[in-house]
Amino acid sequence: MENCIFCQIAKKQSPANLEYEDKEIVAFWDTNPKTAVHILIVPKKHIPSVTELKAEDEVLMGKMIMVAKKIAEEKGIAEGGYRLCINAGKHSGQVVDHIHLHLMGGQKLDAMV
Ligand code: AMP
Ligand code: ZN
Repeated sequence: MENCIFCQIAKKQSPANLEYEDKEIVAFWDTNPKTAVHILIVPKKHIPSVTELKAEDEVLMGKMIMVAKKIAEEKGIAEGGYRLCINAGKHSGQVVDHIHLHLMGGQKLDAMV
């Protein structure tokens, strides 16, 4: 998608502080971090949100979680604990309409639910 910032980052048309890349996924630091470690795990495929996921995306979503787990271990935040979060749609506050998994940690987090 031409006007999608996360597609542009995936295609190296926009800068990002990249933490991980493979043929299907990129991960980079959130430019407005809400926690000490705040990294976004993003599929290169443009999927607007969880609402638009198809059955064929099931394995990709699993891979995104595995990438988050690996980064959490590499950053040394796995033992302390962390949160994985996906916003979907207006009520959640989703602002970038390209599905992404937030990896948040490196500090004590307030309970969400
Ligand atoms: P969400 O509310 O789930 O859509 O979260 C979007 C996140 O993307 C926010 O935490 C933003 O700070 C972050 N963000 C927006 N633009 C960029 C960018 N160009 N590079 C890195 N993070 C970004
Ligand atoms: Zn996109």
